[in-house]
Order: sequence, then C-alpha cells, then structure tokens
Amino acid sequence: MRKTIVAGNWKMHKTQKETVALLEEISSKKPNTATEIIVAPTFVNLSKAVEVTKGKGITVAAQNMHQAEGGAFTGEIAASMLTDIGVNTVILGHSERRAYFHETDALLANKVNTALKHEMRVIFCFGEELKDRQQNNHFNIVEYQLRDGLFHLEKKDWAHIVLAYEPVWAIGTGETASPEQAQEMHQFIRSLVEKVYGFEIADNLTILYGGSVKPDNAKEIFSKPDVDGGLIGGAALKADDFLAIVNGF
Ligand code: PGA
Repeated sequence: MRKTIVAGNWKMHKTQKETVALLEEISSKKPNTATEIIVAPTFVNLSKAVEVTKGKGITVAAQNMHQAEGGAFTGEIAASMLTDIGVNTVILGHSERRAYFHETDALLANKVNTALKHEMRVIFCFGEELKDRQQNNHFNIVEYQLRDGLFHLEKKDWAHIVLAYEPVWAIGTGETASPEQAQEMHQFIRSLVEKVYGFEIADNLTILYGGSVKPDNAKEIFSKPDVDGGLIGGAALKADDFLAIVNGF
C-alpha cells in the first residue's frame, strides 16, 4: 500500500504565536490515522514548529530552500540549515515560486539534487496553467515538468520523492479539478514514471493533488485510486478544516 499524506502549505501566513496555537489545536484534535500529516509554516517559525510538534506525529516541512550549500546569497536558506533544526522535508517547485520567483525546471532539478544530497524528502510540485488546459496541452506540460525536474534521478532517489500535482488554475481560486480530472492526470503521471523507472517505483509513489481542496470535496478526490492525498493551502489554516480533510481518507 502506498503512503497517504495530507500536507498543509501555510504560505506567508501565521505569526509565531498563531503557529503555536494552530499546531496545538491540530495536535490535540488529530485523529489516529495512518495518513501522514505534514505542516509547512514559514521559515522563521520552523524551529518553533519542530519544538511544539515533537512526539505528536506531525511532520514539519519547509516551503522552499536554496540550491547552494551556502555562501553569499542574501536572504536565502540552505538545506543544511533546515536539517540542522530537524526539518527533513521540503516543498519544491510550488507554482507561486515558479510564477513570482521565476523558478524553472532546470533550477528545480538542482534544488532537488541538493535536497537529496542532504537526505531530505522532496514534495515536488508541478501542474499546468489554465491556457495549457484550454489548449489541450496539459499532459505535455506536466510531462516536460517531470522530465526536466526529476527524470535525471536514479531509481534509488525515488524513495525520497513525493509528487504534488497542482493545476495552477485551481490554486487559491475556489476552482477544483473534478475528481475525474485529478484521477486522469494522476494516472498519466504514474504511467509516465512507470515508463521511465518501472512498475515498482511508480506503484509506490505518493502523488498528492493540490488546488482548492476543502473539507467538502476532499473525500471524493481522495477516493480516486491514483490520488494519495493532498497539498492544502487555504483550508490548512484552520485546524478543523485541515483535520476534516485528513479524515477524508
Ligand atoms: P489552495 O492552495 O488549497 O489554497 O488552493 C493549494 C496550494 O497552493 O498548495
């Protein structure tokens, strides 16, 4: 059985006080579940998040990191700084990083390499824009993103990769891919990975869906055979909504 994951991407929300309060509420109400619960607060609150979730069965992830080992990169964060404070999972390639910070697949390939070198787990995000889907080009776009960002990896590396398919048109818009659209793309992604890396790796790969997942649509999306969980933005900022999504399995 593949691992199921529900991850909350908190983006640029929550002060430290709010971070602690939300994590305490999530911990106290958290169901006993085999689904891994991940939270990704902003950099300045990661240490605190690691501290308050210790022993609570919640994984803390970073939302981004730099590809260099260190050096003169003002304002950036290195992989070693994350692992040093107990953060071993990183989200890379979120569509907001791609759109506003010009992250390309080539750059992301480097970031993935750095993360793996530091034995981190990567949640790799990708997905088409609305115009790509309107032009019926969404499968091609996704294929390029995976090929250029990840298909240089060796077989062994895939144990540390989680995929997050997030159609850009569904992020923060209230517009969700239908469960059928999500399944269709997830199946395509898994078959692509199978073609390059074989059945076992593809079959074990956790593929998350992201884009306006809410308590009232999570169950149906998660019921699809190739959807192994979600990457949640807006609805991850309230404990009850987030946990209702976790309970969607
Ligand atoms: P959303 O964000 O759930 O608010 O659409 C998802 C994401 O950006 O990962």
